[in-house]
Amino acid sequence: MSDCLFCKIIAKEVPAKLEYEDDELIAIRDINPQAPLHVLIIPKEHIKRVADLTEGDTDIVGKMVLLAKKIAVQQGYAKDGFRTVFNSGPNAGQAVMHIHLHLLAGRRFAWPPG
Ligand code: AMP
Ligand code: ZN
Repeated sequence: MSDCLFCKIIAKEVPAKLEYEDDELIAIRDINPQAPLHVLIIPKEHIKRVADLTEGDTDIVGKMVLLAKKIAVQQGYAKDGFRTVFNSGPNAGQAVMHIHLHLLAGRRFAWPPG
């Protein structure tokens, strides 16, 4: 998708702080972090929203969650805990229309969310 920010980051047309990359996924530092650790797990395939996922995406979504867990554990947040968030659509405040999993850690988070 030529006008998609995350596709441009994946294509290295826009710089980002890369935490991880393989054939299917990247993980980058969020440009406006909401916690001491704020990483975005992004599939290389352009899928707009969680609401657009299909059965065929089961594997990639599982890999996204497991990568979030791996980064959280590796960076020492397993014991204190961390939050993983998918925003989907306007009411959730999704700003970038290419699915991404937020991984947030390093402080206490409120529940219910705002
Ligand atoms: P969402 O509101 O769920 O769509 O989240 C989009 C996230 O992307 C926000 O947390 C932004 O701070 C983040 N973001 C926007 N532009 C960039 C960028 N160029 N590099 C890294 N993160 C970004
Ligand atoms: Zn995209």
